[in-house]
Amino acid sequence: MKLRNRNIEKLHTDEFDALIIGGGINGAATAAALAGKGAKVALIDRGDFAGSTSMHSSNLVWGGIKYMESKDFALVRKLCKSRNHLIKSYPSTVQEIRFLTTITKGFRHSPRYLWAGTWLYWLMGNGFTKLPRLLSPKKIKQEEPIIDINGSVGGFEYSDAYLHDNDARFVFNFVRHALNYGAVAANYVESLGAEREGEYWLTQARNVMDGSTFSIRSKVLINAAGPWVDQHNALTGQKTTHQHMYSKGIHLIVPQLTSTKRVLAFFADDGRLFFVIPMGNRTCIGTTDTHMEHPEVDVTAEDTAFVLENINKRLTLEKPLTQDDIISTRCGVRPLAIKADQGSDRDFLQLSRKHVIDTNPDSAHISIFGGKLTDCLNVGDEIADEVVRLGVHLTDIDYRWYGEPPEPVKQQFMDQARRMNLDAMTAPTSTEPLSSRLWRRYAEQAMPMLEKIRQDPAEADILIEGTEYIRCELEHARDHEMITQLEDFLRRRAKVSLVVHHEQLRHSKGLKEACRVLFGDDAETYFDTYFAENRDTSRPYSSPPVEID
Ligand SMILES: Cc1cc2nc3c(=O)[nH]c(=O)nc-3n(C[C@H](O)[C@H](O)[C@H](O)COP(=O)(O)OP(=O)(O)OC[C@H]3O[C@@H](n4cnc5c(N)ncnc54)[C@H](O)[C@@H]3O)c2cc1C
Repeated sequence: MKLRNRNIEKLHTDEFDALIIGGGINGAATAAALAGKGAKVALIDRGDFAGSTSMHSSNLVWGGIKYMESKDFALVRKLCKSRNHLIKSYPSTVQEIRFLTTITKGFRHSPRYLWAGTWLYWLMGNGFTKLPRLLSPKKIKQEEPIIDINGSVGGFEYSDAYLHDNDARFVFNFVRHALNYGAVAANYVESLGAEREGEYWLTQARNVMDGSTFSIRSKVLINAAGPWVDQHNALTGQKTTHQHMYSKGIHLIVPQLTSTKRVLAFFADDGRLFFVIPMGNRTCIGTTDTHMEHPEVDVTAEDTAFVLENINKRLTLEKPLTQDDIISTRCGVRPLAIKADQGSDRDFLQLSRKHVIDTNPDSAHISIFGGKLTDCLNVGDEIADEVVRLGVHLTDIDYRWYGEPPEPVKQQFMDQARRMNLDAMTAPTSTEPLSSRLWRRYAEQAMPMLEKIRQDPAEADILIEGTEYIRCELEHARDHEMITQLEDFLRRRAKVSLVVHHEQLRHSKGLKEACRVLFGDDAETYFDTYFAENRDTSRPYSSPPVEID
């Protein structure tokens, strides 16, 4: 907590070039870009970083193949380039993955037509990924026995990419980079609104953990509040050309359905694409697309029933999936940008997922609408350009603010790991060697972890049953990852609460040990608060929790 406390002091006392409201992907990438390029940056979020939409995505980094159907080729081309750029910049984290799509008889397009489309998609992505393939129903069954090919007329396979460690972890790495570049970031600090005073914005902020209030002074105010951008603009009196509509999407996490590491794609009964996505030793299924009037959402019994019904129709599992197979759920709204004068009677499924930047030069205010994780590097660079236009001098304008360390650094890490025979310590239940895990999650910061394991091999042991999280990661998390509440660790820095059932976690000895490392003498209080404040997400909202003995 030292880092957070120190940063809150600095938020009181320092003056900033830019204050960013919201630490989802848009705010985090913006903070890393601006701080890397030399601006004095502050970043606050009223919850944890990536605590809202950016922890509920499908974890896909994709060129938007579905926008081919609406012929939005400019968007597809842009997203394909963004995807390639991310794969090149984060080769360990953003990994190419195959999508196997099965088509049933009577679907609006034939497999051959769609396969031709995947070639165009591949070309629009500069041929960066593996080639598409056309598959007969028999071939689909051979390669993925769980797919029901009854009524199938074949399918095709093409490539996009996914986030190995989940969206929230990806977002936090931008926050971590921003901190390394000198940004002052704090979670659980809410903006209550802001006023322009002369050349500065004065933002009223509240420390959510103790209720204290203070003000933050900045030349530019950047509203990256995701689905709450309009609400925050109302607080500051900003009039914008754009506003948001909301589309809710849910995912179910269930035990691993297939060990092949690819995404299975289907068209649901409503004609929309939905996916079976690998998540380590679990499988993630989703998503839905429901128009909502407000951004506060949760999983309902109807949502769960829709996903279960659709997936059971398309797979031949030994036993159909039921509510009892669900380990956890994810649920959020996509903030979709529309022109403010367009009204809300549009066909929202056709709305573009492009991000839009609305700048008010008179008051040095920027709002970021819409967007995707896939587009985050563009958002960072574009906001940096806007901030320069607003008169902020960036001392290192061409700084490359993103990406993994250069190959020689990785080789040095891998060499040390090999010499100490690290991978031989990998638990049999783990889905990847320890060296890959540690490098991908911590890069050069994993070096001290090797030393810890050399001194005590128990540091390489799995800490919480049913996960792949090892002991030596925890002290690093405590000291460098601003864990303010237990949920920050369980749900976002790691994905423990996604892959282990809520009730199983309550009885986990490893979790008790983790709390002691993270919170010292206050471990029990943090543990109790977590279970008092967080519901068992495997059940739909409003139904009572079920006891597991
Ligand atoms: C179901 C679903 C699936 C998706 N799948 C994909 C995908 O596979 N690939 C992809 O690229 N994109 C995907 N997306 C889109 C992507 O997840 C979102 O576009 C992105 O996460 C939005 O990020 P954001 O930073 O704008 O918003 P958020 O992540 O919501 O961040 C906004 C932050 O602002 C904070 N905030 C709000 N008000 C205040 C205040 N007053 N003071 C301080 N902080 C405040 C909130 O606490 C929040 O953390 C998906 C979205 C959904 C919902």
